[in-house]
Amino acid sequence: MSNFDAGGFDDFAPAASTEDFPRRRSTTESFPRRSDQPRRTTSSRDDIVERRASEPPAPQLKERPPAWQPDAAVDQCPTCRSRFETFARRHHCRYCGGVFCYNCTQRSMLMPPQWEGLCGYATRDPQKVCAACASQVQPYQQQWIDSNSNQNKANHIDNDASTRYLNSPLRFTLGGEVRKAGITLRNLLGDNVNFWEKDAQVFHDQLQGARGLLFLTIAKMAMIGGLRVGTGLVIAKLPDGSWSAPCAVGTLGLSFGAMFGIGISDTVTALDDTAVTELADAHTTKISVGFDASLALGPLGRSASGEVLGASDASATTSTTYSQTRGFYGGISLNGANLRVRDDVNLKFYGKKVAPADVLRGRVKQPPAAQCLYEELGGFFGELEARRRRSAARQAYEYQSQRSTASSTGGGASASNNDDPFGSADPVVEV
Ligand SMILES: [Zn+2]
Ligand SMILES: [Zn+2]
Repeated sequence: MSNFDAGGFDDFAPAASTEDFPRRRSTTESFPRRSDQPRRTTSSRDDIVERRASEPPAPQLKERPPAWQPDAAVDQCPTCRSRFETFARRHHCRYCGGVFCYNCTQRSMLMPPQWEGLCGYATRDPQKVCAACASQVQPYQQQWIDSNSNQNKANHIDNDASTRYLNSPLRFTLGGEVRKAGITLRNLLGDNVNFWEKDAQVFHDQLQGARGLLFLTIAKMAMIGGLRVGTGLVIAKLPDGSWSAPCAVGTLGLSFGAMFGIGISDTVTALDDTAVTELADAHTTKISVGFDASLALGPLGRSASGEVLGASDASATTSTTYSQTRGFYGGISLNGANLRVRDDVNLKFYGKKVAPADVLRGRVKQPPAAQCLYEELGGFFGELEARRRRSAARQAYEYQSQRSTASSTGGGASASNNDDPFGSADPVVEV
């Protein structure tokens, strides 16, 4: 109980002078008590960052992280007076170190970046704070989000083979999901996947026309009753044609059918307006997405040999999936998978609570940490378009060849195989 001082930190108190906020010295008074708390009476939104001119200037920041108040020192929450019991556990406010109940530490805020290395957590990850501390650090939140949050970190898609072919079905950061999605896109057109040029038209039409894209890496373990688990992200196509900021999603459920073994699939699903709207709705806790397996490609890691597992018969009504599968499963069957927004992962990435609607409707700007995904998407659709054109040109050529062959020889052999002006034969192998 020694260093609960609210030391001045003039650099980070742009609107306050030290006279306005006399330093408090180390006493138990530093713990916010019910009486000194400015009560929040209206909104519970975490993103109130712009203070009106009439509000007092930002308070001084604590120079160092606090020592934690010992659990034994309190038997009831100082804010709401509820007693701590077996199921009413103690929670420490990360800004003052005081003990509160669960309900009274529901705000998550970024901590001063100067505390990095001095506290037992990363300051770029929002931490639980009590109501009094929330109002103290609130004026700094936008500044710290801009300078220190995960969404503003540098991020790039690693081409390392070990990670490239082993996307994890469980990720706990949205930055990681962004890299995973980028790798999935890269692999879809890469040299280790069987890609038939004639599929380019189908993929192009479905993905290009999508109102949103869902990237999901899913593990299925049929040995233990058909468990299906996976995480990923959703981005929406905005009216101006750009992509929205990413929204973290996950799925957990049971899968049925005659399946055996373990499979991991990287999937890209085209979402329609209905699915995007449902996800953006604050009242939706989960949506059911029909994952159509018809576009599943062959397993990664094998050399391109012209084999495709499953026919390219795209017939899904609401959404179609374009996936890569590893493991012992052939195709994937994910119909009716339940998709949930992962608010905790979004919070950690954006540095504040964000509503899925704000993310998917373009009210949250594209974060720097997702730029690598937007670039990858641009390259992906460009390449898909190029392959679609080549495929169309090839088909026209083959059609013409067959017609001319038929007219000159009266039918029979095709002339297209040994005389192909459009480069490599199916499957296209490009890097
Ligand atoms: Zn409480
Ligand atoms: Zn506190």
